[in-house]
Amino acid sequence: MDTIFTKIIKREIPANIVYEDDLVIAFLDITQATKGHTLVVPKTPYKDIFELPEEVAGHLFSVVVRLSQAIKKAFSPLGLNTLNNNGIIASQSVFHFHMHILPRYENDDLKHMHMVNHSASLTKQDFESIRASILNALL
Ligand code: 5GP
Repeated sequence: MDTIFTKIIKREIPANIVYEDDLVIAFLDITQATKGHTLVVPKTPYKDIFELPEEVAGHLFSVVVRLSQAIKKAFSPLGLNTLNNNGIIASQSVFHFHMHILPRYENDDLKHMHMVNHSASLTKQDFESIRASILNALL
């Protein structure tokens, strides 16, 4: 399904493109949640990570690494988050796979997902059961 990103790929709407090749395009996120906030997007409109072929993912992530290095060189952030949202519950709003590159600066106002530590309420068996479920699903 065509999304706003397809329109950017087809040059139907403008964007500040910072990288492009046969498989991938990258452009500044319109919000600039932090300075240099960039989206890296496959040209084929895979909806989310569950549709993304591994070989496209591998190439796309190499572009994420290259752009992260360029953003570090350009703006000297103190750190950087990469982020990918899949599904409404995970805050995805554009249903065309994308990775966010979010350089981090002293006193930036980005509210990052807070990881809760549930380990105290889990037994060794709970971890073994979770591990077994994933191993079984990988078969
Ligand atoms: P999501 O919430 O799906 O992880 O991220 C979608 C991102 O797309 C948001 O950060 C939003 O700012 C960005 N976005 C939405 N529409 C446009 C647009 O027309 N141009 C650009 N450059 N970014 C957009």
